[in-house]
Order: sequence, then structure tokens, then C-alpha cells
Amino acid sequence: MKSAHLTNTRFSDLGMEDLLFKSLDEAGFKYCTPIQEKSIPLLLEGQDVAGQAQTGTGKTLAFLIGIFNDLLTLDPIEGRRLNEPRSIILAPTRELAVQIHKEAEMLNKYTKFRLGLVFGGTGYQSQKDYLEKGVDVLIGTTGRIIDYFKQGAFGLDAIDSVVLDEADRMFDLGFIKDIRYLFRRMPKGDDRLNMLFSATLSHRVMELAYDHMNSPTQVSIEPEKVTVESITEQLFYPSNEEKIPLLLGLMTRDNPERSIVFTNTKRNAEKVWGYLSTNGFEAGILTGDIPQPKRLRLLDELANSKIDVLIATDVAARGLHIPAVSHVYNYDLPDDKEDYVHRIGRTGRAGAKGEALSFACEDNAFNLPPIEDFIGHSLTVMQVTEDLLTKDINPPKFIQRRPKSPRKSSHQRKKYTGNR
Ligand code: AMP
Repeated sequence: MKSAHLTNTRFSDLGMEDLLFKSLDEAGFKYCTPIQEKSIPLLLEGQDVAGQAQTGTGKTLAFLIGIFNDLLTLDPIEGRRLNEPRSIILAPTRELAVQIHKEAEMLNKYTKFRLGLVFGGTGYQSQKDYLEKGVDVLIGTTGRIIDYFKQGAFGLDAIDSVVLDEADRMFDLGFIKDIRYLFRRMPKGDDRLNMLFSATLSHRVMELAYDHMNSPTQVSIEPEKVTVESITEQLFYPSNEEKIPLLLGLMTRDNPERSIVFTNTKRNAEKVWGYLSTNGFEAGILTGDIPQPKRLRLLDELANSKIDVLIATDVAARGLHIPAVSHVYNYDLPDDKEDYVHRIGRTGRAGAKGEALSFACEDNAFNLPPIEDFIGHSLTVMQVTEDLLTKDINPPKFIQRRPKSPRKSSHQRKKYTGNR
């Protein structure tokens, strides 16, 4: 079944190399996100792309497919030496670089390119050694990349494709001079496939694009609307002790076919999951420590009505394509006003009616004013009446954890080598 966040375009319709399609298909990626639908066909034709897209839109897979297809279909530049990567991906932070590398490994299942990961703060010698042995795709943060470049650990003369990810953050973090330095040392803009992604295609970002890219096509996807008219938004003021009885009471009253309960912490997510599971609900839990395949499985179970409620933290839900739901319960009001919009945007899709019910409790009622400011209206306040509070509540279930394996001593730990 196809999630609501995806388009009707299948990866198989795009004409990419079979080996890439095979790894996508096996990893469960079948339909494109909007940014993928728009940018991948351009990249496969060899056109540069300047994409306006935030994290969570699927941009990483879009540019990785562009790069890998290029690597598979073009011969390396003549005379390329082993330590000259064919492709380079520049990211503003170590976390982002690691995330890109992870997705690249998934896509690389059958292509077996050598992927290099380079970032500051750790592994200085091991990353350098790995790079010197030669990589096809170099992923990393600018500071460490320039450092190694200046030492001659690798060369830029064989670069066929470049990605600049989160370009606006690169400006904010002061990396632009470094980026221009690197661009000037690669083959000319016309001789490469260039990709730039940024949350906004502002003047300064586009200036960079015009200086170093080959007439890029601009691709934008609609930013998420600030609340949708078909969503009813209600607010309750429970005491901390009333939160569980109120949630159970409202969910029993509403009897939603498919819903999500958002919490601000993993601890609260586990608490809510524990109570819902023993009080008549088929519940799943989506927290940051749950591995990606299990997250995708849970989303499928929600989409196929195998579970009727998912309890999620924002961190865990970010970037996932959650199927449309009828009810969103904000057990905790989010600390970040934009998270409120993301959360309630899971309901009221495609004109369908949706309900968003939020709790402003003693601990997070102060999050309300910035949220109301941001969405430009007040939430409708509802009374916490006795009949809404469930009385006989079964004690919660607890998450079973496997005992941790004993720590390995340092000589037993594997050295990080960049590609695993
Ligand atoms: P990104 O915007 O690149 O950070 O991607 C956000 C998340 O969406 C990542 O966890 C991807 O694995 C996932 N994702 C990307 N493309 C798709 C797709 N076509 N279908 C399902 N999930 C996707």
C-alpha cells in the first residue's frame, strides 16, 4: 500500500539503471516523493538541479540516484588516479553527512562503489588512510575535506558530479568561502553534474548556483501549509494526573480508525504506549531508537489497520511518510511551534476531515503562545469534564528490553574505517 506523502510515480517509471532500482525496491522504496518525482528525471538527463527542499522530503535519495546513475553510465575522466573521487557530496554537519552515507550504502548494495565518509572531531588518521586508498564517492563536511585536500590525500580533478546539501545552512555556518575554494579546484561547471539543495532558494544561494553550476533548473515543492482548514483544532487543560485518563477517555469516545499520539519525550511515549496497550488499543511505538526497517513496518501496519494508534516523538516521526490519520492527539504540546504544524498535518489530508486534540498541561502550557502566534489563530478550548476521564484504568505494560551486552574493551573495538 502506498503512503499518502508519496506521488503516483514509481521509481520503475523513471528509467534509472537496473542495479539502482533493484536496491531501492528491496529496501521498500517504490513510489517517489514530490521532490524525487521532479528532480530525478532532470538528473537522469544530465541537467543540473537547484532544489528547494528541507530534510524529510526525500532529497537525499534524489541526489544519490542522480550521482549513482552518472557513475554507472559515464566513463571516469581519462587518466583518473585512484585517490581522485568521481563524486563529492558536501554537507554542513556531521549528522547529515552520516545520514547521507547511510542512504548511499543502501543504494550501493549492488553497485559496490567505494564510499568515503569524512567529518571533523574524530578518526583523523583512519579517515585519511581510507581516502588515500581511493573512493568513488566522497561524502563529508567541508572543513575536514579541505584539510585532507590541502595535504594531497585526494584530488578533485576527476569530479563528475557534486552535491551541495543544505546550502543555506552552509552560509549560516560560514562555510561558503571553503565551498567556493573547492568548486574552483574541480573540472569546470559545464563538465560536471551539479546539484544544490536548500530550504530556501534565496538570492545568496542562487548566486552561488549561477557561479558554479551549469544553468540549473529550479525545482521546488510546496512548503507544508500552516494548518489546514479541514482540521478541527481543540485544546484541553488537564492536570498532569488527568492526562492519561483524558487521553483514554477521548480515544474511547472518538474511536478513531487510525490515529497518532505525539509526545515530547521517549519516556512519555513509552508511558502512553503502556497504558493504551492494556486498555483496549492496538498500539505501536515510534521512538528514535527504533531501527528504520521496524519504523517502516509500523507505518505499514498503521496504513493497513493492523494497529489503530501509533505513539511517536517528533524526532522519530520526522522525515517518515506517515499515512493519513483521522485523529492526532498532542499528549504534550510540542516545544517547537513548527512541530505542531507537522504533527497536525498528518490528519485532514486531501480534503478529508481531521481532528487535532492537544493537551496543555502544567509542564508544557507555556508552549502554547508561540504556537498560536505561528498558526495565526487560537485553538478552541474545551473543558475537561468528568465524563471524559476514564475511571477504571488497567496498569500499564512495560517495554521489554534485552539486557545490554557487556562493554568491549578498547582493543576489542573495531577501528572505524569509513566504509562498512
Ligand atoms: P531526506 O529528506 O532525504 O532526509 O529523507 C527523509 C526520509 O524519507 C529518509 O528516512 C528516507 O529513507 C525516506 N524516504 C526518502 N524517499 C522515500 C520514498 N520514496 N519512499 C519512502 N520513504 C522515503
